[in-house]
Amino acid sequence: MKELGLPGFRAKQLEKHYFTHYTSDAAAMTDLPASGREELVAGLLPPLLTEVRRLETDRGDTIKFLWKLHDGALVESVLMRYPGRITLCVSSQAGCGMNCPFCATGQAGLTRNMSAAEIVDQVVRANALIRAGGLGDPRKVGHEDERVTNIVFMGMGEPLANYARLMQAVRVMVDKEHGLGMSARGITVSTVGLVPAITKLSNEDIPVTFALSLHAPDDGLRDELIPVNSRWKVDEALDAARAYFDKTGRRVSIEYALIKDMNDHAWRADLLAEKLNARGRGWVHVNPIPLNPTPGSIWTASEVPVCLLTSPDSQLAFWLMIVSIAMAVLPVWRSPMIS
Ligand code: SF4
Repeated sequence: MKELGLPGFRAKQLEKHYFTHYTSDAAAMTDLPASGREELVAGLLPPLLTEVRRLETDRGDTIKFLWKLHDGALVESVLMRYPGRITLCVSSQAGCGMNCPFCATGQAGLTRNMSAAEIVDQVVRANALIRAGGLGDPRKVGHEDERVTNIVFMGMGEPLANYARLMQAVRVMVDKEHGLGMSARGITVSTVGLVPAITKLSNEDIPVTFALSLHAPDDGLRDELIPVNSRWKVDEALDAARAYFDKTGRRVSIEYALIKDMNDHAWRADLLAEKLNARGRGWVHVNPIPLNPTPGSIWTASEVPVCLLTSPDSQLAFWLMIVSIAMAVLPVWRSPMIS
């Protein structure tokens, strides 16, 4: 503001419009002097995301957005209303360089890292839509004070491969004075297992929820499913996840996309339970999720009967069974963007 020759309180006014009213529309900022207002807003709050497409399911309770960035790169976010919370699955990169074979994003490769502002703008745009009554049936929901309560970094990209911008975005999300004022606990950072970055994350002063996308408990299969496993093995990733819990006291989530005939065998459920229990009790929970299959690919979601074959004495097997039954009746949209 100083450089622009403007008083400091103008920054506060702009922050309020963007982070509280969720707008970057100069016409709505009538508390700013009309003269030069357009230029000021265009300079400090430039358009970051252009909506290309919107898909609604679950009677409008789930909305998937396709956004175009200023250079034409495309990213997605998914907004989901659940009882008592509203979750936004955000992207952290345009494309992804991790090359997981079951994932459409991975097959297209990495276009570029997203900036912190582009990451945050996904939340601001979602909040604007919620406030306008655009999520779910507007006759039934009290949208006035509602906003995104939970963020999951499970959209496009590997968040820890864009570490500096990820953390910058998270700091803005939790900043009560100059940002969105969200709870760090409501923010889930997920990774396929970049071990040094997990260690770095555990040393941050922001206790976000940490999720490890494991998808296989054995290196033989995981080397194939998650190519970065050739660098950091299952045990190293699990050790780093346990260390995250030790450092932060935050329970870790193990994400397990159920892929038919690939990783949904009883012995793998048992092996996972064994590896997790070997590292102690009460530090982790397993989140089996249906794979969102890529059209035309060999990778498809597990079916109920496969999961019924899992050993009855394994806690994980039990979960796989229960969730698989749920999967059979829930739309694929339940899975954010494991694509
Ligand atoms: S699954 Fe995640 S880490 Fe792997 S390629 Fe897809 S977006 Fe990247």
